[in-house]
Amino acid sequence: MAQRSLLLLPFLLLLLPFPSHSLSNNNSQPPKKPFLRQIRSALAPFTLPWYEQGLHFSCTSCGKCCKVDGDVWLAPEETVRIARYLGYDAGEFRREYVRAEVVPDVGGSGEDKEALSWLCLKRREGACIFLDALGKCSIYDVRPIQCETYPFWPSIVATRGDWEDEAVVPDEGVLREGTSDRYWTAELGGCEGILLDGGQHVKGMDGGNNDGEGVKVEVPIVHREEIVAKMKAAKKHWKRFPVEEIKHSTWYL
Ligand code: SF4
Repeated sequence: MAQRSLLLLPFLLLLLPFPSHSLSNNNSQPPKKPFLRQIRSALAPFTLPWYEQGLHFSCTSCGKCCKVDGDVWLAPEETVRIARYLGYDAGEFRREYVRAEVVPDVGGSGEDKEALSWLCLKRREGACIFLDALGKCSIYDVRPIQCETYPFWPSIVATRGDWEDEAVVPDEGVLREGTSDRYWTAELGGCEGILLDGGQHVKGMDGGNNDGEGVKVEVPIVHREEIVAKMKAAKKHWKRFPVEEIKHSTWYL
């Protein structure tokens, strides 16, 4: 026990308030932090997520995440929202856009159950049916949570390695030797909006400004709060999905 206390001593010392003489209130010194904030600051290096400083990401509108070999599932309320946006009733929407459905194991009539179903969107020419000819989402304003939260899914943001694995080099970009850089494939997916080094995207390595270096484009930071909010939304959403086997073999995990 005594040994354990000794081990903890350095941490406890970090938590102690500073001696009052070092924080005396005069105009040249910042106000003393509340004690709880001091504790949080002291613990921060041990508790902060790896993406505390934010992550460089900016959607390039490449549409690749809509062409991955995978399923897009709609929760019941998303179906209602999207069908209304398109001006369809439930039956028309199903006929036009849905290729599979899972019905939760609850009692009630067929209609009640139908209203609780999760629906899987059809695909067209290797892409989600809602990807238009210009490579844009035709229901962007009401797109599913699955799409809205990408690439900040818990599985992708879990570790720095997972995040880096999701990054792909744009088709016109050049893979760096000795790195794990890769191009996008429908099978493995990946996101070219994720930036790993320095927050700059180099567009057109040879074609950008014709000097062989391309054009550097600053990529903004997505802050921790937004990352956490999206991760939580994705997790909460997927937790409700009614079929465990599908849940464990598809996008979220
Ligand atoms: S719903 Fe829109 S954002 Fe989602 S996969 Fe389809 S086209 Fe892409």
